[in-house]
Amino acid sequence: MKDWKIYNKFNSLNEITAGTTTKDGNKYYNFSLALHTGENKREIEINREKFSNYFPKNYKFISLTQIHSNKVLDANDLISNNKWNRDIEADGIVTNKKEIVLTILTADCLAILMYDKKAKVIGAAHAGWRGVDQNISKELLQTMQKYGARAENIIVAISPSIRGCCYEVGEDVAKHFFKYPNAINKKLNNKFNLDISIVAKEQLLELGFIDKNIEISPICTSCQNSNYFSYRKECGCSGRFMSFIAMS
Ligand SMILES: [Zn+2]
Repeated sequence: MKDWKIYNKFNSLNEITAGTTTKDGNKYYNFSLALHTGENKREIEINREKFSNYFPKNYKFISLTQIHSNKVLDANDLISNNKWNRDIEADGIVTNKKEIVLTILTADCLAILMYDKKAKVIGAAHAGWRGVDQNISKELLQTMQKYGARAENIIVAISPSIRGCCYEVGEDVAKHFFKYPNAINKKLNNKFNLDISIVAKEQLLELGFIDKNIEISPICTSCQNSNYFSYRKECGCSGRFMSFIAMS
């Protein structure tokens, strides 16, 4: 767990457990935690059991079937007697309850983790370029606002993701983000290097989040592929690592 707790802004808060898992060559499929990428389900479930054993026994886990949408659900509607509550199609999730672990699977995309310290609400979202283009942070914020959260009180961490150094896209994708020139570099071959974490941060600022409350992991999943799964670097056949946030 220690190596997973990579977000300084959350590590300083006793009531929050948040982080992002890394690869582990000693475990099945390098400790992938995804049930949808074709590996043996039982072995992935063993990885998930190992992951959940880092938390107190009574904690429950929510994982989504992520569909590159901007759909955000209230986790309080999904909690059952099962340890893992999953297979609901959405890309974001919110709760004001303690001892619920919100989880997001990625391998290049962003996991966006949020906590409102005053309202005591947490949220988590998955966003690739489509989710960022649909501004899923806005939907996440609106769902958290139902529990009294306010943008200016929310601490945000954005997970390791494929960064501008390695994420090359065509104009068909780049054109969605031309209004964020800091996130795009045009290359000679009419391709573009895109950094959607920069777009996500600018969207957060537009929504009223405060710069000093936003932490973006500097890790590029493609550059640091030995520790993190990268869909691009591993030619589409990679596993997924998991970002998580829970309140105690
Ligand atoms: Zn890179």
